[in-house]
Amino acid sequence: MTNNIVLQCPECKKPVHWNNKYPHRPFCSARCKQIDFGDWANETHRIAGQTQHSNGDNLDDSLDGSFSDASTGGELDQY
Ligand SMILES: [Zn+2]
Repeated sequence: MTNNIVLQCPECKKPVHWNNKYPHRPFCSARCKQIDFGDWANETHRIAGQTQHSNGDNLDDSLDGSFSDASTGGELDQY
């Protein structure tokens, strides 16, 4: 009953049988798996990079302001 599960390769839409003949399921082959994983990794990397960049900018700006304020005051007082 559970021996006949057939999926669709997310990459090329070929039928993929859920058995040991398809070790890369749900992909039909290692190539499709790699293509999909590459897309995903690239996208994640790109989004993470953008988020990190803009976050870093904002964080840097606010941190810079308060940090230099505090440190200048403290250090000026000390010196
Ligand atoms: Zn495929």
